[in-house]
Amino acid sequence: MLRREYGKLLSRHTTLKIGGPVFCWIEPENINDLFNAITIAGDVQKDLAIIGAGSNILAREQGFDGIAVYLGRGFDFIEKEEDDIVRVGPGLPVSLLVKKTAEWGLTGCEFLAGIPGSFGGALFMNAGTRDIEDPNRMREVKDIVVDVDVINVKNIKKETLKRKDIPFTYRSSGLDGRCVISGRLKLEKAGEEIIRKRMGSFVKSREWMKKLGFPSAGSVFKNPDSAMPAGRLIEESGLKGARVGGAEISKAHANFIVNTGGATSKDVMELIELARKNVRDKFGIELELELKLI
Ligand SMILES: Cc1cc2nc3c(=O)[nH]c(=O)nc-3n(C[C@H](O)[C@H](O)[C@H](O)COP(=O)(O)OP(=O)(O)OC[C@H]3O[C@@H](n4cnc5c(N)ncnc54)[C@H](O)[C@@H]3O)c2cc1C
Repeated sequence: MLRREYGKLLSRHTTLKIGGPVFCWIEPENINDLFNAITIAGDVQKDLAIIGAGSNILAREQGFDGIAVYLGRGFDFIEKEEDDIVRVGPGLPVSLLVKKTAEWGLTGCEFLAGIPGSFGGALFMNAGTRDIEDPNRMREVKDIVVDVDVINVKNIKKETLKRKDIPFTYRSSGLDGRCVISGRLKLEKAGEEIIRKRMGSFVKSREWMKKLGFPSAGSVFKNPDSAMPAGRLIEESGLKGARVGGAEISKAHANFIVNTGGATSKDVMELIELARKNVRDKFGIELELELKLI
């Protein structure tokens, strides 16, 4: 039986705690349910949105007049296929991916320690961060992917895409129009102590996030380039702490917008436009959204 809920508020499912009602929320528990959910969206001619942990989403107040599919229970698996290859479900929290691979003595996922979200979201967004040992290097999900199973939403067919055929770029997998149903990762064997030390270093590098103090959805904009991060451009445009309604450009990091209480998507959008305008006027740089709008 396909679990559906009509009118569920997206604010209950986004880390920013913003978002209106969704026409129909479906939580498939297995692959057949998921095929059915995607088929229903086509049959009723509604848009389809795949929702992970909602940690990089800005959901509009007026809601989403479509089918939102949440892959949780039934898709939260992780299994060792070979000594150094793991297969991961999209619903697995990234924190558990990091924990489990460390327990198995496999290195490669430590950079994800402290990044919120699900494996599906991390893969779709090509989540990543600067390396701790080599600050000139970025660590991203694409570095560890072997292949990915998806359902193509257009023709409702399962596809297996090899790493080389996935157009990964900075904070994008290019997998739009596809639902990730599992991914295989190639890791390396290492001592558990070394892995835990690396994990600890990545977690430590994120300690500043405690200063955010309010709900957020991660980086609002992509960094135009590593020498000119979006946060610095916004800060140098004098916008740290700028507020519209309950939304604020964080005083802890200018590329984060926080919900200080009662913020609406309109408040956040106004701050986004303000940041874009000021950065364009001062630096001639066009900021591109990292946040996904629903
Ligand atoms: C405090 C904080 C810190 C953060 N730090 C970082 C960071 O250091 N680095 C970084 O990269 N990100 C960071 N983020 C952003 C966010 O955590 C990542 O982008 C995360 O990987 C998103 O996962 P999610 O499950 O929450 O995805 P969601 O926010 O739910 O979705 C994001 C996108 O992925 C799509 N998606 C989700 N699951 C699937 C699926 N199974 N198939 C197809 N599409 C799917 C959604 O449709 C949406 O377009 C941070 C966020 C917060 C709140």
